[in-house]
Amino acid sequence: MITELGKEMIKQHTLVDKMAQAKEIVWINPELKNVSVPFSIKGMTVANIEEAEAKLKRFAPLLRKIFPETRDTDGIIESELTEIPMMKERLNADFGSKIEGRLFLKRDSDLPIAGSIKARGGIYEVLKHTEELAIENGLLQREQKTEIDYSVLAEEDCRQFFRNYTIQVGSTGNLGMSIGIMSAALGYRAIVHMSADAKQWKKDLLRSKGVIVKEYETDYTLAVENGRKQSQEDPKSYFVDDENSVDLFLGYSVAAKRLVPQLLEKGITVDEDHPLFVYIPCGIGGAPGGVTFGLKQVFGNNVHCFFVEPVQAPCMALGMMTGLNSEICVQDIGLTGKTEADGLAVGRPSGFVGEVMKPLLSGEFTLQDDKLYQYMQVLLDSENLFIEPSAAAIFEGAVKLAGNEETQKYLREKGLDDKMKNATHICWATGGKLVPEPVRREYANIAKKA
Ligand SMILES: *Cc1c(COP(=O)(O)O)cnc(C)c1O
Repeated sequence: MITELGKEMIKQHTLVDKMAQAKEIVWINPELKNVSVPFSIKGMTVANIEEAEAKLKRFAPLLRKIFPETRDTDGIIESELTEIPMMKERLNADFGSKIEGRLFLKRDSDLPIAGSIKARGGIYEVLKHTEELAIENGLLQREQKTEIDYSVLAEEDCRQFFRNYTIQVGSTGNLGMSIGIMSAALGYRAIVHMSADAKQWKKDLLRSKGVIVKEYETDYTLAVENGRKQSQEDPKSYFVDDENSVDLFLGYSVAAKRLVPQLLEKGITVDEDHPLFVYIPCGIGGAPGGVTFGLKQVFGNNVHCFFVEPVQAPCMALGMMTGLNSEICVQDIGLTGKTEADGLAVGRPSGFVGEVMKPLLSGEFTLQDDKLYQYMQVLLDSENLFIEPSAAAIFEGAVKLAGNEETQKYLREKGLDDKMKNATHICWATGGKLVPEPVRREYANIAKKA
């Protein structure tokens, strides 16, 4: 059922009309501005990113101790940047694309602990809350906090202390996994409010770690609302608010600076003649928004960030295009919000992220669900890399950038149309590592039919 608001927006914007028919769209953001770096937006600056980085460093010895998988990186949660030339060939051969330059996969899909991009933001927010609690209660002394070995927090008396506190979150799956796994590992009581979209194996995995999983028949927005309400009733409960959290956002943004040495190592230059294009899947907006905020601070006008969303849940595209941000949801224009891309099954975007992205985001693409499985399978066949279907949405970005009228116009206007041979494309893979083998086989079967 299309609402009055939806009808009005469909009348005003031809692209909203197209989205309402569940058609794929390409949207170039007319509000994109040139930035001079570093910049401040909504009170957030590079200093906030650096602060988040420093906090993660302080916690590294603790992570190293409780998660052996982070030993190789000394407790720092980071992913590899991998060139995927065979995938580029396949996209050009089988998907009618003409990608020029080098194509890379940023493998947040393999991030330790949570197996998704949520290992950046989600874990950061739990640690930030933990630091505050620990300092307030004398578990870490404030005056020497940079010198204290945070791994003391893994000791039994500290765990006993955290057991008195609860951390809650609403999730379509991956955020719940990151918050749940991290919180439970520190000793907290963890409650995850899962929307109907959440996959069974994610609920099972969380329960096996002692996390309380509450299931809802409703969509994500209602699961969040319930979680928030229940958390407010308990003074010892902390709620991770995906819709508004600046902490989550900043936790994600840390990725950007760490990309610099990775690019250097591959001999990649980013400047006016060597543009960088980044494609990130978008749900409520926090993860892709945080990464984009960080990337723009580092690379300024030489990085071009695009989000990708499913045709039934293009909430950020809708919010930004109409300028209504979180005042409109995909159901207003008659869409279901339902998609196989569970990580992207969000009907109403974060208003906070929509505003921050207004001058920074280059544009958006939407895609049909069956392509998620096709891209997932082609990546597996060509590069032997697995990412989950939600993450596979990114390839639509690389494909559309190189084969579409609107994007060609964007490149011409930016003076980039003759520089694309020098371009670097990063497809930001957001999840996959923890997907169990039987579920991967199921996905492969769907891909065959797609
Ligand atoms: C959460 C998630 C996203 C999008 O992040 P948002 O903060 O919801 O926009 C993309 N891909 C995967 C796999 C995710 O789990």
